[in-house]
Amino acid sequence: MDTFVWDRNFITGLPDVDRQHHELVDLFNELNRSLFHGHDTGAAELEAIFQRLLAYAAQHFADEEALMAEVGLDTRHQQAHQHLHQQFVAQVRSMWALRHTLRQPAETIMGFLTSWLGLHILGVDQSMARQVAAMRAGASAAQAFDRESTEADQGTQALLRLVGNLYHVLAQQNSDLVAANQQLEDRVAARTLDLAAANEQLRTANLQLQAFSRTDGLLRIHNRAYFDERLLEEVARARRLHQPLAILMMDVDFFKRYNDACGHPAGDACLQAVAKAVGSVVKRRTDFLARYGGEELVALLPNTPPDGAMLVANRVLVAVRSMGLAHPASDVAPYVTLSIGAASGLPRESDDAQAGAQLLALADSALYRAKHEGRNRAMLP
Ligand code: GH3
Ligand code: MG
Ligand code: MG
Repeated sequence: MDTFVWDRNFITGLPDVDRQHHELVDLFNELNRSLFHGHDTGAAELEAIFQRLLAYAAQHFADEEALMAEVGLDTRHQQAHQHLHQQFVAQVRSMWALRHTLRQPAETIMGFLTSWLGLHILGVDQSMARQVAAMRAGASAAQAFDRESTEADQGTQALLRLVGNLYHVLAQQNSDLVAANQQLEDRVAARTLDLAAANEQLRTANLQLQAFSRTDGLLRIHNRAYFDERLLEEVARARRLHQPLAILMMDVDFFKRYNDACGHPAGDACLQAVAKAVGSVVKRRTDFLARYGGEELVALLPNTPPDGAMLVANRVLVAVRSMGLAHPASDVAPYVTLSIGAASGLPRESDDAQAGAQLLALADSALYRAKHEGRNRAMLP
């Protein structure tokens, strides 16, 4: 891009204005050099030059507007002139902000700056200068303004107006582009939010599904599938921490008879009450209670030796007995009771699944013993 070449046609005859125009041209050329030849010019430095230019332009515009007001130029001219200044600042700002999206940012920005400056000085600034001169020679503001449309070179004026309109259209298009870009960014941001919300819903749904797949529908405690999973984990943990893992196998006594005597719905309600009572005892944060199947419950008690397992088992027996749920067909008590097989130990088998199965078999054989010894009791193997 060529540098901006000063032309004597630019001279307005207003010393302050001319001096500032010169200064502006120098700044334009400095920015121009940085944009096109300054490979070493960093983004921050470029930004600084640009901001300096904008600040200088704003100051210059303010000075020009103050001069017009002081001389008392026709307000029609003052307003139109001021409007052009404002348009320029807004337009340049948005172009600069959008420079990364422009195909040829340097050419576009410098092209706009130099063309606008030339056009502005030749056109409206010269018109301002002529009116100032006319008023200083004794004309009224309105006379000086009206003379512009009759005496100034009409061909040049028409051309300048034409190019001015062209820039106005360009400016409009540019700000439309800024708005469209902003809208697009807003829409992307909204879509991103939607997506995040949908992801969150999916995550919640997955958690619900997982909880659902791990819960027994009737008793609202964990189910067998989840127990199998947890057994492996707890065996592994017990091995790692060298802590004994205990299992309680719990089975309602004469439950078939309970169903026969009270009906299946009452049997269901009885199981729910039993699960709740057991849950009130097996309640350490690390304890785990599940329905093993039918009327059998199972508990995992991490870091619990045999005597601790028996303590918990006996508390479970008490909790269930003391509900006093009438059992009209039991041989051991007039109320609902349990038998419990307890087992505890450090995993011996090196394989977690085998070690878990072994512990479970021990608890099961203890349960069998408890049944055999008369029910309504807890036993170790
Ligand atoms: P024992 O004292 O030897 O354990 O005798 P029991 O009758 O409890 O033993 P058995 O395993 O023979 O009977 C279990 C019964 O539990 C069989 C079945 O009718 C009943 N049962 C299993 N699941 C449910 C259930 O979800 N609801 C109801 N109401 N009954 C169930
Ligand atoms: Mg059973
Ligand atoms: Mg039973």
